[in-house]
Amino acid sequence: MPRLMGQMMQMPLMISSLLVHAARHNGDVEIVSKRVEGDLHRYTYRDAELRSRKLAQALARLGCEEGDRVGTLAWNGYRHFEIYYGTSGSGLVCHTVNPRLFPEQIAWIINDAQDRVLCFDLTFLPLIEKLAPHLQSVKHFVLMTDRAHMPAQSPLDLKCYDELVEAEDGRYEWPEFDENTASSICYTSGTTGNPKGAVYSHRSTLLHAFASAMPDAMECSSRDVILPVVPMFHVNAWGLPYSVPLVGAKLVMPGPHLDGKSLYELFESEKVTFSAGVPTVWLGLINHVKQNQLKFSTFRRTVIGGSACPPAMIRTLEDDFGVQVLHAWGMTELSPLGTLSKLKAKHFDLPKEAQRRLLEKQGKVIYGIDMQIVGDDEQPLPWDGQAAGNLVVRGHWVIDRYYRRDDSPLQDGWFPTGDVATIDADGFMQITDRSKDVIKSGGEWISSIDLENIAMAHPAVHEAAAIACRHAKWDERPLLVVVKKPGQELSKQDILGFYEGKIAKWQIPDDVVFVDEIPHTATGKIQKLKLRERFADHVLPT
Ligand code: ADP
Repeated sequence: MPRLMGQMMQMPLMISSLLVHAARHNGDVEIVSKRVEGDLHRYTYRDAELRSRKLAQALARLGCEEGDRVGTLAWNGYRHFEIYYGTSGSGLVCHTVNPRLFPEQIAWIINDAQDRVLCFDLTFLPLIEKLAPHLQSVKHFVLMTDRAHMPAQSPLDLKCYDELVEAEDGRYEWPEFDENTASSICYTSGTTGNPKGAVYSHRSTLLHAFASAMPDAMECSSRDVILPVVPMFHVNAWGLPYSVPLVGAKLVMPGPHLDGKSLYELFESEKVTFSAGVPTVWLGLINHVKQNQLKFSTFRRTVIGGSACPPAMIRTLEDDFGVQVLHAWGMTELSPLGTLSKLKAKHFDLPKEAQRRLLEKQGKVIYGIDMQIVGDDEQPLPWDGQAAGNLVVRGHWVIDRYYRRDDSPLQDGWFPTGDVATIDADGFMQITDRSKDVIKSGGEWISSIDLENIAMAHPAVHEAAAIACRHAKWDERPLLVVVKKPGQELSKQDILGFYEGKIAKWQIPDDVVFVDEIPHTATGKIQKLKLRERFADHVLPT
């Protein structure tokens, strides 16, 4: 018997369709951007769609052909948003480069991706002028500004972004092509070895946008005002530049102004309801709001992820400011969203503390992703909330292989995340560590995240990191590295005493060192490797 086929339209999932939809159905909804130039820029989805079409024309005029990579070094703003659509929408590939990486790494990444055009904000002009001689593939350097802000002199043959766009007539139709075509590239931050590129497709990006906007995920709607603090160069701002136009919400972008005061003012003036960012940016915002005894008038929900969100931060945001925290886990290789913590209906009757413990976990997978934990023998471990194993995932927006690499990173069809996690019977996943960061004491594992979360709940602690320190008898024992809050008194005994009763005695750190600053990666994660190097010769008390 011949198989009966579905008889529905075949429309490829095109990134351009998100913006076309927003322009047609929410055409008057605003996109507001704090510019590098210092002022606030506002226009609508209708304007953004037209300018993105003009940009597609301009890039073609510069000689870009299907599949060519266009690099960006830019903050969150409307021009960057136009580049997302003008490139992917016209069959080019948007390559967002993280400007916080070391200059040599930035050059390496641009060369590896073979970017043909490089678009960058004024902030990065000095950096690009220095790097330009090393960027072999780049044919055009485009400064993302208007004529008035173009420098009088530059060693580069600079093109002015606004002039390029404004020279076009916009008579351009978004093409339709295979939905599996590459749409954008992000590189992992390469804490070990050279960064690796993850190449997303139109299909994977659209499915991620649908799934991440759902009520059990980020719960985005046209009634929201959404401000992604997470940069557009950090895994596509967690997909928000796609899911926000999908739902037609007002989009607010902070540019380079990420300090607590600037963010707070933007949240208030634009009536932001929903945001997303890594824990370190929330530290700055919370401090500002607390110090000045301010309140949020409209801000109700935020996604926090990228590294473990300390429970103390979740409590402060919820109890003091009425902001619901959605703790999420993801990675570059997952576009990035994998899991997000939200209660199930059956949890509504649980006591508040039990609910909180669930919401502190990294949460349940969203439809489209599948996960399991496996032992070192690659055999699945039970979902009992106790057994900790290597977290592996598969799904519609998980990478199959890295850019320009033939070898597959997969194990039996699953992508090994490098994270160690538990999963409970309800499917709530909790990351206990990066596999490289676990502290192995006498054959038992101690979760560095658990140790950090407890320390972070101490009122005098600004930031804490737990690392493994060599130990003659136990192989490794935990050392806690602490940054105090300014003006606070805090002794080693205070901290160690704070662990009593919160964790098994043998898991309490052996020692505490106080430092002025804990090093972070370009994506805001604690650089454990650097800390381990710095304290390699630390002698633990006996
Ligand atoms: P990088 O390029 O540094 O890998 P990613 O953003 O892709 O940047 O980092 C992914 C990693 O970040 C995850 O594998 C995990 O270790 C960590 N991570 C992300 N979100 C969380 C979270 N909510 N809790 C704990 N770790 C997290």
